[in-house]
Amino acid sequence: MAANEMQVGGNHYMKHGKLQHWDVVRHFSLDYFQGQITKYVFRWRDKGGIQDLEKAKHYLDKYIEINQTPADTEETTLAVMSIWYDRMKSIQDSFVWEGSKEGLVMFTCKMCCEKVHAVNPIEAYIQHGDCKPKVSPDNN
Ligand SMILES: [Zn+2]
Repeated sequence: MAANEMQVGGNHYMKHGKLQHWDVVRHFSLDYFQGQITKYVFRWRDKGGIQDLEKAKHYLDKYIEINQTPADTEETTLAVMSIWYDRMKSIQDSFVWEGSKEGLVMFTCKMCCEKVHAVNPIEAYIQHGDCKPKVSPDNN
């Protein structure tokens, strides 16, 4: 006997003829969630009533949830944070803290030796900008 000629636990899938829900799933290559959602929507009048619609809704809520937050979101966040961290570290490493003088903190750019008053290396960088070291005529 072919699997479509019988049903375990009722006839709610068979009563509509030869086409069963699993045939629909297979034909449309539905994923697990799509299969569950359509299964409960298909059978609710013949089997579980409103509770089946609630189950379909539950699967749909989960389906929306997993598709709204793609798996790569965390990976992307970590990659962005890593780039940001490296940039901050490189800025921090490009200034030497010279201590405070008359209430002002002084940093020196390692590249061009320009002195900058700032509360921290990030502010020093903001004031100083990307360093373009002066090219000595000897290097030309
Ligand atoms: Zn500089």
